Amino acid sequence: MTTKININGDIQDEAFISILDHGFLFGDSIYEVICTSQGKPCFLNEHLNRLYASASGISLEIPNTSKEIKEQIQNTLNSAENDESYIRIIVTRGIGEVDIDPSSCLNPNIIIFVKGIPQIPAESYRKGVSIALVSIKRNSADSLNPAVKTGNYLNNVLARIEAQKMGAEDAIMVNSLGQLTEGTTSNLFFVKGGRLLTPVKECGILSGITREKIIQIAHKNGITLEEGKWSSEELFNAEEIFLSGTVKKIMPVTVLDNRPVGKGIPGPITQKIMKLYSELLDSLD
Ligand code: PLP
Repeated sequence: MTTKININGDIQDEAFISILDHGFLFGDSIYEVICTSQGKPCFLNEHLNRLYASASGISLEIPNTSKEIKEQIQNTLNSAENDESYIRIIVTRGIGEVDIDPSSCLNPNIIIFVKGIPQIPAESYRKGVSIALVSIKRNSADSLNPAVKTGNYLNNVLARIEAQKMGAEDAIMVNSLGQLTEGTTSNLFFVKGGRLLTPVKECGILSGITREKIIQIAHKNGITLEEGKWSSEELFNAEEIFLSGTVKKIMPVTVLDNRPVGKGIPGPITQKIMKLYSELLDSLD
């Protein structure tokens, strides 16, 4: 698997960023993660639309058009020659003074990082993973809005550390009102009374591209899906839980706070969504 890094159009095996870049100094950046399927970036338009929306969310103007970014992604993929790739697009505020004021940053840096797709053990999908409800709250939408995919992930890093201390692989955060939000790099779904439930965007979540696809799949296949506001207690009575994200796709959760979820194995609705999502990816041209 080859790694290639494209910085502002220049493709290298290794690349370095200035310590004066405000992305490094202040987490003043945005990003997207895209995976290829059959060599082609999946849901590219959706990801680029979110990239521009995130840029607008932090008042950052991306100097390139989405057509130019698509060309640069393709150049980087061609240079890496992987069968399948993980693509990370990062746009930073750029180099400026060592001062929080962004007005000294005149040129955003656009980085396209391409590498092989991280291999998640098949066992995780077969047996499910463990999560913990952590005390760290998801950023509230009126501070650092989770809908904006910024490079400032410290909120989620702290949640992941807390989950690991509790012996779990990932964390679920609630918002300041105690409503369920999402995982550290994934959206949350759970099943109760045969209905598929997921926190509504207003709870303060990233509007995941995978989440949107799952909602469409559920509607098309007669699975009752409800977006809403739920307290953490609801999760403890869930029959099934799964996480969704570009890299992990649909990941069953079988342990919550060291206790089994439902029967302790991936449930039927989770398995159905896994199959339908995998068919969707296979059907893309
Ligand atoms: N929520 C958060 C906080 C994330 O970081 C991610 C992905 O990185 C997701 C949800 C899932 O989003 P997507 O399905 O677009 O990958």
